[in-house]
Amino acid sequence: MASPAGEARGFVAAANPRTPADAVRVIFLGPPGAGKGTQAARLASHLALPKIGTGEMLRTAIARNTPLGQQVHPFMETGNLVPDHLLLALVRERIAEPDCDRGFVLDGFPRTLTQARGLEEMSGDPRAWVVFDFEVPRAELMLRLSGRRWCPSCQATFHLLNDPPKKPDLCDLCGTTLVQREDDHESVVALRLQQYDERTFPLIEYYRTRARMVPIDGHRPMDVVFKELLEAVEVRA
Ligand code: AMP
Repeated sequence: MASPAGEARGFVAAANPRTPADAVRVIFLGPPGAGKGTQAARLASHLALPKIGTGEMLRTAIARNTPLGQQVHPFMETGNLVPDHLLLALVRERIAEPDCDRGFVLDGFPRTLTQARGLEEMSGDPRAWVVFDFEVPRAELMLRLSGRRWCPSCQATFHLLNDPPKKPDLCDLCGTTLVQREDDHESVVALRLQQYDERTFPLIEYYRTRARMVPIDGHRPMDVVFKELLEAVEVRA
């Protein structure tokens, strides 16, 4: 993905290796369907940093039927948040891996105040972190979630109207038949949004004074949003 501005400033691993002390940490906050996952993947790839998507990690655990997968499935299929201690253990283990030394992009974590505080214990003072807060009108979120289709094999996501696969119902990347995520069904979405309002929304206030909070109007074309994200992280570079 082209971004001459970012590369010219040397915000690329090979050109400008970072030490753990000045690692880049980016958090994506926002309700389900706001476009966090897509933008986080794009940003992580541009910055050559690992993207840590907790929803994705949990879906992989379910697909592999691991003990963690068995534990979290009942929460996820009903649109509930998975208990904090499971998420904290998952993220603690992941960010201890060497590829996170230069920083990471978090997608879907933290989602509660307990998780936010736990992240600080693992990762230090959040003052230099960039926290993107995606805002999208509720009606648009519902449209995005109901049209979202997902590849159960490689976890790529598409949208029937906004980002359809090249061949109907088939993943562009691996050819697997696309499905609707069980938690994107209308009956489950309402609870996910309620969980967001009650448990994740307070993080906006929490980070406003603790980190560099950047509000993002997510109701715009993907490329426009991405450009804004790049500008925000490059200030930090
Ligand atoms: P996502 O793919 O980010 O929309 O996450 C899908 C589901 O995974 C959520 O509805 C939760 O059930 C679970 N999940 C993902 N991340 C977290 C988290 N940080 N805390 C609690 N549950 C989570």
